[in-house]
Amino acid sequence: MKTVLKIENLDCPVCAEALQSELQKIKGVVDVQVEYITQTITLSYENETALQKVIVKANKFEDVRVLDGGVPPTKRKNAHTKAWLCIVIAALFFVGGTLLEYLARGTLAEALRYVLYALAYLSVGYPVLISTAKNLVKGRVFDENFLMTVASVGAIALGEFGEGVLVMLLYQLGELLQSIAVGSSRNSVAELMELKSEYATVVVDGVQRLVPPEELSVGDVVLVKAGERVPADGILLSEIAALDVKSLTGEADLRMCKTGDELLSGSINAGGVYEMKITRPYKDSAVSRILDMVENASSGKAAPEKFIAKFARIYTPAVCIFAVLLAVCAPLCNGLIADNRLYFKNVAAWIRSALTFLVISCPCALVISVPLTYFSGIGTCAKQGILVKGATYLDVVAKTRIAAFDKTGTLTEGNFTVCGVRLAKHRPHSENELLSLVAAVESGSSHPIARAFVSVPFVHSAENVSEHAGQGMSATVCGKNVLVGNETLFRSHGISVEKVESVYTLVHVAEDGEYLGAVEIGDKLRENAKTAVAALKQQGVLRSVMLTGDSAQRAQSIAEEVGIDETYVQLLPDEKHLKAKELKKAGVLLYVGDGINDAPVMMAADCAVSMGTLGSAAAIEASDMVLISDDLTALPKALRVAKKTRRIVLQNIIFSIAMKVAFMVLGAGGILPLWLAVFADVGVMLLAVCNSFRVRSKK
Ligand code: ADP
Ligand code: MG
Repeated sequence: MKTVLKIENLDCPVCAEALQSELQKIKGVVDVQVEYITQTITLSYENETALQKVIVKANKFEDVRVLDGGVPPTKRKNAHTKAWLCIVIAALFFVGGTLLEYLARGTLAEALRYVLYALAYLSVGYPVLISTAKNLVKGRVFDENFLMTVASVGAIALGEFGEGVLVMLLYQLGELLQSIAVGSSRNSVAELMELKSEYATVVVDGVQRLVPPEELSVGDVVLVKAGERVPADGILLSEIAALDVKSLTGEADLRMCKTGDELLSGSINAGGVYEMKITRPYKDSAVSRILDMVENASSGKAAPEKFIAKFARIYTPAVCIFAVLLAVCAPLCNGLIADNRLYFKNVAAWIRSALTFLVISCPCALVISVPLTYFSGIGTCAKQGILVKGATYLDVVAKTRIAAFDKTGTLTEGNFTVCGVRLAKHRPHSENELLSLVAAVESGSSHPIARAFVSVPFVHSAENVSEHAGQGMSATVCGKNVLVGNETLFRSHGISVEKVESVYTLVHVAEDGEYLGAVEIGDKLRENAKTAVAALKQQGVLRSVMLTGDSAQRAQSIAEEVGIDETYVQLLPDEKHLKAKELKKAGVLLYVGDGINDAPVMMAADCAVSMGTLGSAAAIEASDMVLISDDLTALPKALRVAKKTRRIVLQNIIFSIAMKVAFMVLGAGGILPLWLAVFADVGVMLLAVCNSFRVRSKK
């Protein structure tokens, strides 16, 4: 069983790691991911008891609270107000203490100064001290709280009371700013979550009733009023409707729909009231798929993220050991070298260096900014109508060299219509007879081609219908074996096909081995397929490729129109798969398909993209990215965001590590005062976090 638990008050990525490893130990927990940025626990578990244990354990962890459905999250803002207040009060006490230190002399002044410093220290540092104590009891050391407690207590023990206070003050200020920054990222993605309508107005026998979207069933008639969101996918019953699809595509334009048009859930009614009929239950609707994916996106971690997590795990203890060495061995060596005698020389100075070193070593800039950058990247994509199932794919997409497309349903709209009939020379049947024969057979298929025949009436229904993926159909009608499909299918059945010149896709028909003719079916090119392919080229994609099961004639004409470089035709699904593997050798392969007959290629490609509305549930499951509104121009946008994300991640890694190393050297050498070390640490972290915000900017 799988579930996603929402939590709050998980304060840092390192705590998330710690909680995760605790939860992992629970019996019955198969897999668990704790996410700091999304504040979620993604859990797969064996039984109800395991789930309950996880909830109990998580609730006991620091301030973490599991929010189940009904409980509203405590206002993050209030928490911030309280933190600000503590910082301001502490700062006032600190300033008071410092003024006394410089202005007044005497025992009384000194006593007062200590009191002021103590008040300052406690008012800002008490949460840190408490969690350090709690963690020590549980045997969890080496987190940020621990580092700051050691550093500040150490400074105080060395007689630098003011500095100890300043360390705590700066650290808490940094934590607060970080929490605000992360919160704002979180909110920008949370806006997405508002896609879901709270209720839908169902009309039964003229009576209106409000129900939650989850309770809608297929066939329900729903009234959507001005300004309301479409609650679940369906078709329009009223004459016209104007929809604002900004939250699905990122484009601020209105979509005009007429009777029978598909309405995607999540879009807003920008016109008057209209009626619609539900065609998909809420859980299969666009909105619910989007929300699921956004929530689960963080589990597919990118390589740099995994690296950082591993890095932090070995790095912190290593640094602590080095600090202890610096505090113990360095003074010994100092004594040995200076006076040729084994004793501790300059102990206080070396301990200070060790403390400074400890403070600087905290890897928070990396640990926070890298996942945050990916998270912003995924959020930015989602806002533009592209769902990315994990940071890994963002990384992969950024490196795309070859873009391969499926033809039907991807480069074309997949709305086939019958455009003509080409009877065989000896004309055994009339056009209508041929059409109804095909319609009978196609009624058993879900291929886009089959949809061209839904309005064609037929008298005799088909039996023993079987589908030959990527080729066509066979069935028995009135006791005769009927074959419907492309040339490949006919060749494999040893039936020869009469050659005809046609710009359309030909669906050949044979009865008991005798060729009857072909139905021409047309499919419009997707509006901006050409723009999208050209834009991909601009984003550094070297080759564009079409993989199709259709005939060369039709494929070629589409390839020319769209501007595709290479076309591979008459491919069966597994041949597409092989072709994809071959293409992959030359560079990172992006594959875009509608999921009909191309699940195998999707598995082979480095990154598989599926069409959101046309795509089957299985295809969306198999793909790594989904274009919510089937808009191909979302692809180059995704590429741009992905590249930008990668660039910023690299910048952050290099910047943070370089700064860290520089400061660590200065700190260990005793050149940097402790408070400045904290200041630098907080500064680097904030700069890195702010840099990650750039992903979201439009340019
Ligand atoms: P594409 O690769 O263009 O997306 P498919 O792999 O789905 O197309 O199908 C390849 C070809 O197989 C189609 O162009 C069509 O000629 C034939 N075909 C597949 N399914 C059917 C069907 N249900 N009826 C008739 N022809 C079909
Ligand atoms: Mg297809």
